[in-house]
Amino acid sequence: MSEERPQLIVDGKRLDGRDFDELRPIKIEAGVLRRADGSCYLEMGRNKIIAAVYGPREVHPRHLQDPSRAVIRYRYNMAPFSVEERKRPGPDRRSIEISKVSREAFEPIIMKELFPRSGIDVFVEVLQADAGTRTACLNAASVALVDAGVAMKGIITAVAVAKVDGQLVLDPMKEEDNFGEADVPFAFLIRNSRIESIALLQMDGRMTVDEVKKGLQMAKRGAMQIYEMQRDAIMRKYHTEEVE
Ligand code: UDP
Repeated sequence: MSEERPQLIVDGKRLDGRDFDELRPIKIEAGVLRRADGSCYLEMGRNKIIAAVYGPREVHPRHLQDPSRAVIRYRYNMAPFSVEERKRPGPDRRSIEISKVSREAFEPIIMKELFPRSGIDVFVEVLQADAGTRTACLNAASVALVDAGVAMKGIITAVAVAKVDGQLVLDPMKEEDNFGEADVPFAFLIRNSRIESIALLQMDGRMTVDEVKKGLQMAKRGAMQIYEMQRDAIMRKYHTEEVE
């Protein structure tokens, strides 16, 4: 690695001026795609994400159908132009892994038994990436699923915590992700406005048990703020439709 490691915390502030427990600016808009059953555009810092949900609909190929419940498919894709060094188009190990763990986060909360023989397809497209794309995509996918009217036991809200210069920070951006000591993405199932369980937890790097516990509390507080914005985006869409 030839890149020089910058100092990530200067005078108690992060490189972008944030406090340790501060999220990046977030923008969420539901129902942005005409041809999808549900959709969402989301920005989390410099990440720009589009999520599209199709279904419940007939599954093709048909041998993938399940007679007792819906089949969930989740595809995470990074556009070649979304990153500094052009990414080769198409799936790679990383995107296959992210698609798998993200699908597994949604599997238990989607009420699949209500839609036998059908499929629910979630596509998330990263248009611009700046670390934390898997969590940003989960947040966008959640809103798109609600927008599609898919019955769920709650909503998924995700955010990462990192350790940089020995300090825990919420929602790391690219420099913190690249040069930090650890990166821990969390996703939570939120039900009746309360965090009920952890839907995804990954870790890159090292943290002590105590740091993981503190990181979890930090992530929970961040997730509740994101949850309010997800709710707001959904309310805004349906409110506008009523008025029109
Ligand atoms: N990244 C990149 N090229 C790639 C994959 C990732 O430049 O092929 C960048 C991108 O900004 C991404 C960040 O590295 O957001 C961190 O990637 P990671 O695998 O940790 O996943 P993420 O934090 O986005 O969920």
